[in-house]
Amino acid sequence: MSTKISKESIDEATQLISKLVQNKCINPPGDEMKSIRMIETLLKSKGIECSVFETAPNRGNLVARIKGSEDGPKLMFGPAHVDVVPVPNPEEWSVDPFSGEIKDGYIWGRGTMDMLFIVATQVQAFIQLHKEGISKGELILFIVSDEEAGGTHGAKWMMENHPDLIETDYCLTEMGGAFLDDGKVVFMIGEKGGAWKRIHFKGTPGHGSMPYGSNNAVVKASKAILRIENYCDNKIPLRTEYLGYLADGLGMGKVQKFMLTTKSLLPLLLKLTRKKDPDTAKIIHSLSRMTMSPNMVQGGMKANVIATKASIVVDIRTLPGQDHEYVLKHLNKALGDLADEAEITQMTEEDGGVNSKGNASDPSSEFVSLLEEAIGMEFPGSKLVPFLMPGVTDMRYFREKGVQSYGFSLLDPKTTTKDMSSLPHGTDERISVKTVELTFKAYYNIAKLTL
Ligand SMILES: [Zn+2]
Repeated sequence: MSTKISKESIDEATQLISKLVQNKCINPPGDEMKSIRMIETLLKSKGIECSVFETAPNRGNLVARIKGSEDGPKLMFGPAHVDVVPVPNPEEWSVDPFSGEIKDGYIWGRGTMDMLFIVATQVQAFIQLHKEGISKGELILFIVSDEEAGGTHGAKWMMENHPDLIETDYCLTEMGGAFLDDGKVVFMIGEKGGAWKRIHFKGTPGHGSMPYGSNNAVVKASKAILRIENYCDNKIPLRTEYLGYLADGLGMGKVQKFMLTTKSLLPLLLKLTRKKDPDTAKIIHSLSRMTMSPNMVQGGMKANVIATKASIVVDIRTLPGQDHEYVLKHLNKALGDLADEAEITQMTEEDGGVNSKGNASDPSSEFVSLLEEAIGMEFPGSKLVPFLMPGVTDMRYFREKGVQSYGFSLLDPKTTTKDMSSLPHGTDERISVKTVELTFKAYYNIAKLTL
């Protein structure tokens, strides 16, 4: 069985992506209101009411809903963000990155993959479902600003100011949808958290010409850096559940899967993988533990004075379930006897830090079976493979409230893993018209199955 979506509405979705690219909502500053108003005008022209919330000058969010005649679950399309990241290298692109050009079966431009194709297909699927009506529950469309800079004027603002309007049981947003081996399709069940720390050390001043036995803050900071690196690679507790999903997804054999998911064998496997495939080794490393990367260091004031101050910044990324205490416990263990002298502070979002909890939804709930059924309507027999995203998205605001949230779309099977890792935020970002059609159908199908 294949879904009946007209060629005309797929064309409309394609045109909408192109216009959203042309609106150039580069964050910062965002200025997303032009895209939000454009979607409002489109929905109103189809007789659909919606509410727009201005959250800052020229920035805002949009909510629309369809109600079924009977009680039932609430499903959200979104949070879908219309802001995009800047283009640092327009001269390296084959097209103007904000032309929204449609050629060779692709829509080209910044944001097409992250995540304007989802915005457009969710809007068009919503319009189609509004025309047909739903039998039960509610379908909510939630279009937001500011995802690329943390969601302060987008999803987070709505959670703080109008939580009742975006209350839902399930939400579907970026991204997933890539095919792996044998009809296996990726969907995102969660993301790692961030707990960036600054660690300060103090020393005693003295003359640099006589360093023996001195109390030097820079020396302490450098010892700390080496200890943190060593602890993260060799001593931190390992977790293997996310690697198990990865093994299934990559179609690994039994032996390989056993090696990947057996904690005592993992260090050796990592060393071997690092030699022949460093990119995969990075993924395995990051999915198997809380990572700690000391990325900045500052200290001292003069070449001939023993340093009295030094500080390092550590980018820490947690797995779901690893809380603040866990972070501090292992950071202190890594520092060893330097821990007593270290003053550890959390970097807040205001001073450029990342501070969010790792989070994940159930990888095998009843709703997930429906997601699988929805893609099966286009590709019979395909299976969903759960992945954890290393980065942070708006979904964290929903998972905090217990909402089952998934990164779900359906990409043109021709899309390669290289496209997936290089196109979002990259050069020649583009999405194929086939992807627009497939993702449109996937959203339409899941709404039909749920509501
Ligand atoms: Zn995105």
